[in-house]
Amino acid sequence: MSIIKLLGTGCPSPSHLRFGPSTLVQVGNKNYLFDAGSGVTQRLNESGLKSSEIEALFITHLHSDHIVDIYQLYISGWHQGREKPFKIVGPLGVKDFFEFHLKAFEAELEGRKKWEARPNENGLLYEVDEIGTEYIYQDNIAQISPFEVDHKPVEPAYGYKIEFKEEGNDKKIVISGDTRKSSNLIKQSFKANALVHEVFLGLDFDEKRMTKETIEHVADYHTLPKEVGEVAKEALVEKLILTHFVPPVFDEEKLKTEVGEVYKGDIVIGEDLLAIEV
Ligand SMILES: [Zn+2]
Repeated sequence: MSIIKLLGTGCPSPSHLRFGPSTLVQVGNKNYLFDAGSGVTQRLNESGLKSSEIEALFITHLHSDHIVDIYQLYISGWHQGREKPFKIVGPLGVKDFFEFHLKAFEAELEGRKKWEARPNENGLLYEVDEIGTEYIYQDNIAQISPFEVDHKPVEPAYGYKIEFKEEGNDKKIVISGDTRKSSNLIKQSFKANALVHEVFLGLDFDEKRMTKETIEHVADYHTLPKEVGEVAKEALVEKLILTHFVPPVFDEEKLKTEVGEVYKGDIVIGEDLLAIEV
């Protein structure tokens, strides 16, 4: 049995109901984590999981809401007894980003290690795979392939395709990351058992925080409700799971109706800690 657990379904706006974007995919005894939004380790804890039990962290792109808790995930996994290196897969630049954190926290960590006399040094090891052409993550359970989506001017930005066998059947789960309607994503998601996709609902203009371009530009590099319905319909996916709601508070029934006018399959309006069997 495989499970998609939405750990955080929000966006950069703080919300106690929707934490920063983060999705867990559990296949067999493996836990694959996609993005490390704000509060990811608390949501793991609520799910009965330790940071140390994550097989690998896959980053979709380097926008702050997707990466802000990488260091917290790393250090909490060490505290919780991780024995093997902390594994990150992500776009070019993610290694520098992570190592800047290590540098910034170096004196704190050295002081803590010395004073607290913690024996487990292995948990502080790490490995970063930066995605080049033809990168594929493979273990004995799943094959996870990044593919390019369209979140320009943020480049590269990736979605991930998770493929595995279950009771002899091929299964496919796709994570969109952040993207406008993407033809490559439609191709990669073709006949997926589940597509976890972002959606942009609309923002109210506030002249103190926004210019005339703000809403237009934010909307432009995300996917609108009608468009996400088109993506799911064109890709013939079995189930569409919506997440990364901008803004985090909105009319859920209205969204479901709007998407449902285009896509006739199973639509799930995501919420934090919702687990979906696939
Ligand atoms: Zn983004």
